[in-house]
This record gives sequence, structure tokens and C-alpha cells, in this order.
Amino acid sequence: MKYQAIIDEIHAEVQYLFGRGNVADYIPALAGVDARKLGIAVHTLDGECVEAGDSRERFSIQSISKVFNLALAMRIVGDEVFGRVGVEPSGNPFNSLVQLEQEKGIPRNPFINAGALVIADILLDHLDRPNEEMLAFVGKLRCDDVRYDESVVESEKACGFVNKALGNFMKAHGNITHDVEAVLDAYYHQCAIEMSCVGLATSFLFLANGGVVPGTGMRVLTASQAKRVNAIMLTCGFYDEAGSFAYHVGLPGKSGVGGGIVAVIPGLLAIAVWSPELNRYGNSVLGIKVLELFTTRTGKSVF
Ligand code: GLU
Repeated sequence: MKYQAIIDEIHAEVQYLFGRGNVADYIPALAGVDARKLGIAVHTLDGECVEAGDSRERFSIQSISKVFNLALAMRIVGDEVFGRVGVEPSGNPFNSLVQLEQEKGIPRNPFINAGALVIADILLDHLDRPNEEMLAFVGKLRCDDVRYDESVVESEKACGFVNKALGNFMKAHGNITHDVEAVLDAYYHQCAIEMSCVGLATSFLFLANGGVVPGTGMRVLTASQAKRVNAIMLTCGFYDEAGSFAYHVGLPGKSGVGGGIVAVIPGLLAIAVWSPELNRYGNSVLGIKVLELFTTRTGKSVF
């Protein structure tokens, strides 16, 4: 299928939605981002790569990084990670302390903040230089436009009181083993990864390809593990809006409060969208609409 015409059409069609959401401002370094941005990139397993709008501009991937965090940990320790974090949707805000308290320090899933902190803690057991090694890992997914925005790291450290509370609470329950500050440093660096839509679509292709990076043949995960990551993305990838995203779009994916969304169609492609205005759940307003129109117009989804 030729996707360029479809992408161009959708890019023009969703412009009316600008002004319907708000840029994330609880992280001061993100508050100044230009709201009127829209980038789209589609990368297929057979090598087609199409893009529209601001598809090459880097942005803060924020919680999308939780997928890299999980994939790297599963690559190193396998399914052992699920002894310390669950696989159920949370149905609560991504930084909820209440749920963690009720569930005795075991996060519901790896894509809420508490879950990502536990996964970062696991990585610290195995990586000497976790921040460098995370960037190197994403680089191996054939993405060379990746780097940290240190101003975002500092900004999150300065105002991340809830994340610190989550870390300390889990430390009290024995589900964080390293120094909480070290875990937060690794976590904030992941959130502060900057990538473009083109880079994101490319780097997620291994999840559309049974765990193997197309082109290089590097196996990141087993086919079964890739299926599991996709399943968690479908059920937990969109904060409290995961059900609605599955209903309207029908793809596994992950969003971040920087306004990015990446989704995959197993066996076919990865698509990344970036537009910074968020709805009340923390998902990109234009991003969700682009993906809904994409699966409708192409007739392709996982269902
Ligand atoms: N760095 C953000 C936080 O910890 C991640 C937010 C997100 O994209 O969900 O609050």
C-alpha cells in the first residue's frame, strides 16, 4: 500500500484540532514547547518510509521511553521482570500513590511511573553506565537521531516530588533495591530522550517484526516477548485512555506527555506521530486523531 497520500491527507485534515488541548506544563522544561507542531512518520517492514510535517524535529519522548526500558530489561533478565511488576491496566493516573499503597509496592504495569522505576532499578543491577547504555540500545534499533535533553532531566529532578515519593515507597516495600536517587536519575534520563517521529517509527519496527530489527537482523526479544510487550502496550500504553484508544484506533502503542505517540501493526509497520497539545488524559489530541484516521483509511489494525 502507498501510504504517502493517506498521510498527507490526514496531516491537512486534523489541523482544525489545534487549540483543543494543552501542552504539558508540570515539567517546566516542556512548558515552552511550540504547541502548533504536527509530525507523522510511517516505516514499513518492507522498507517504505513516508513522513509529513514536523516529522524530523526532535521532541521529548517522555513515557514512550518506558517501552525501551522494558525491552532492554526483558532482553537482559527475561520474564523475571514480571515478578516485580504486573501486567494489568491501572485505571488510575500514571503517578498514583494510592494504588501502589493498596498493592504493597508492586506496580500494576511497567508503563506507569512506579513500574518504570522498578524496571530502571532492575537495569541498574546489570548496567555499569545505564544512561550511556540506554542510548546505545536505542541506537542499535537503527535510530541515530537520539540524545538526552539535560535541561529536561534537571527540570524533572527539580519538580519530581511524586516520583521521589513513589521510589521511596517502593524502597520501603523492598521493591527498589538501589539508591532512590540513582534510580530516578536513570528514569529521568529515559524520559528526557529526544527523538523525531522518523527515529521513533524506525526504532519500534522490531516490535512489528517478532522482536528482530529489520535490516540488521539483530534479535532484541524473542517472538513471544515481543508479543507480550505489544499486549502491554495495547492494554496499558495510553494512561487512563487505553480502552478508548484500543476502541478508536485498534493498535498497540505508547504515548508520552511530550505529545508523541508510537504504534505498531505487527507484521506490517510502525507509525509515530508528534503534536504537543494533550487531552485531559495526557495523550496528544492530534496524535490520537491521526492514528484513528490512519487505521480507518487503511483498513488495518490488529482487530
Ligand atoms: N517524566 C514524566 C514523569 O515522570 C513522564 C510522564 C509521561 O510521559 O507519562 O512524570
